[in-house]
Amino acid sequence: MAGKEAKPFVVSIEEIPDGGMELARDMPEEWISGLLGPQFFRKEGLPRVEVRILRAGPSVVAQGRVRASLGFICARCAEEMPFPLDHSFSHVFVRGHETGGLPDGVDEDPEALEFTFIEGATIDIEPLAAEEVVLALPQFPLCSESCKGVCQHCGRNLNEGSCECHVDVVDPRWEKLRQIKL
Ligand SMILES: [Zn+2]
Ligand SMILES: [Zn+2]
Repeated sequence: MAGKEAKPFVVSIEEIPDGGMELARDMPEEWISGLLGPQFFRKEGLPRVEVRILRAGPSVVAQGRVRASLGFICARCAEEMPFPLDHSFSHVFVRGHETGGLPDGVDEDPEALEFTFIEGATIDIEPLAAEEVVLALPQFPLCSESCKGVCQHCGRNLNEGSCECHVDVVDPRWEKLRQIKL
């Protein structure tokens, strides 16, 4: 059933057992590379998405985890750094405006909960997981908060030591004054 295989995270709400269900899958390389900003790249292995799905009255709760071995190029010094992504998320699918109660054992931290309205008889976990990957990655990743970057003049990585260039950098206003004296 190729059609089923193509959407492994589409779940029929009716078919979720009372005790909940678990899905886990290695995602194709194209899936993760389509989500990564220009600073990031896939290092090794395939990204893995795991999710536990529970019915809660008219609602459905999905608790998931996305893992991937990524790397990034520091936005300041261009050094390559590993970025082991391991991101957990909770999501609630609600029908209309009913929210229902959360089942036992579900994290009720409102900060961690995101809502989606159910349309039709199925829910799809894949777009959720994709969105969580995007949210989990910083836009300007740095090798360290204190990264000094590279010298604009000589290109030296200033984390490895300073260069001599600052000696030559003259405030243009002083430069004008010097020319006048001459
Ligand atoms: Zn850096
Ligand atoms: Zn320099």
